[in-house]
Amino acid sequence: MIKEILFQVIVIIFPLLFHHSYIKKKISNIFAQRFITAAVCSIVIVICMTYPVVIGKGGIYDLRSIPWMLSIMYGGGWVGIATTIVLCSFRYWLGGIGMYTVFIVYPLTAVFLLLTNNYFIRVNLVKKIQYGIAVSSFNIVAIICLSYVFIPDMSYQSLPFFIFLAFLTVLTLWCYIWIREYIDEHDRLHLEVQRTEKIHIVGQLAASVAHEVRNPLTTVKGFLQMLSQDSHLSSEHKYYVSISLEEINRANSIIQDYLSLAKTDVHIERLNIAEEILFIQKSVSFYAALHNVLLNFHHPAFKLFVKGNREKFRQVLLNLIKNSVEAIQQKGKGKINVRILKKDKQAVIEIEDDGIGMSPEELQRLGLPFYSTKESGTGLGTMVSYKIIESMHGEIKVISKKGKGTCFSILLPLEPGSE
Ligand code: ADP
Ligand code: MG
Repeated sequence: MIKEILFQVIVIIFPLLFHHSYIKKKISNIFAQRFITAAVCSIVIVICMTYPVVIGKGGIYDLRSIPWMLSIMYGGGWVGIATTIVLCSFRYWLGGIGMYTVFIVYPLTAVFLLLTNNYFIRVNLVKKIQYGIAVSSFNIVAIICLSYVFIPDMSYQSLPFFIFLAFLTVLTLWCYIWIREYIDEHDRLHLEVQRTEKIHIVGQLAASVAHEVRNPLTTVKGFLQMLSQDSHLSSEHKYYVSISLEEINRANSIIQDYLSLAKTDVHIERLNIAEEILFIQKSVSFYAALHNVLLNFHHPAFKLFVKGNREKFRQVLLNLIKNSVEAIQQKGKGKINVRILKKDKQAVIEIEDDGIGMSPEELQRLGLPFYSTKESGTGLGTMVSYKIIESMHGEIKVISKKGKGTCFSILLPLEPGSE
């Protein structure tokens, strides 16, 4: 029996290893990822069910519920439906009276897991493990109880073994979730280190170039402005001058992004978030209206203070709102909601748009230097924003769905005196 149990435990580790060594690294298409995950989990489920642990008369037990549950928890809807169908079909093929238990308990648990999947994805490791333990315990207890109902001649002598195996299942699931989250966290840290390294190099480069370019630009801009006021200029030439001025402004804003990467010795002060948002509202409202975008600002009744550099903080808000406007522009029309919230000891600024949104792959690349999907994009805006918020000891969280929209949340530690 020990041999059989060990075999099951080893087999169900396979999808985990396969996920980290192959699927995550080599397959970038999300549909292919889901398909392969569903296939691997289904094969493992079938193997588990083919070589179960046999306990006394009529009693068999296996660990199929682990790859099955994890396929739903980490794979989502389609993977979950596929593995549930495979599991039930194979159980039907095996035959026997025990299959009714499976047909009742597994689909019910699957529906619960799918309905609560959003919760599982968002919570931290401890809650994930608690959730896994709770659902798998329910699943196993229901299976064992119903088995005794449907199979009247099942011996009660095997009950202690069932209980022991149930414990083993829950324990293995626990380890599995822990290992998976641990490796994911490790990969995230690795990416973060790479990102910081790149930003550092860009920053160094920026320091040397940006300043040198800004001065001649200011001169050119001044002369162009003078030229544009010349009454002898034909309307055609005036048009050329205005385009040149626009382009110089664009170049200036790019340089501004580069400079804020390099500058570290900036003036830090106490900022009233509502005031800063109001300032931004005034400066972007016209720009948004011009692009067919409805901009809603929700001003809170309470005052929240954070610590940081005013110019840089405004730059973050501008960069993110500008991205939202551009995301909506690519779609046609839409709206942006800017909210200020207070969560625990943090101030949260949400910038939510219903623009084109991003796929999980695009989300992963967000914030990398020079990553842009726009024709005239620089790929600096989000990177600079991430860096500024990081320097304010906060963080930026992003939720996005392709075709639906994006929500950026800026989380910042609150200063005393906030109410
Ligand atoms: P840029 O705006 O110059 O392209 P950013 O660093 O500001 O550079 O943004 C990088 C990329 O991230 C954009 O090209 C776009 O694909 C994506 N992105 C950023 N914000 C959003 C958003 N609100 N909705 C959709 N895509 C976004
Ligand atoms: Mg941008």
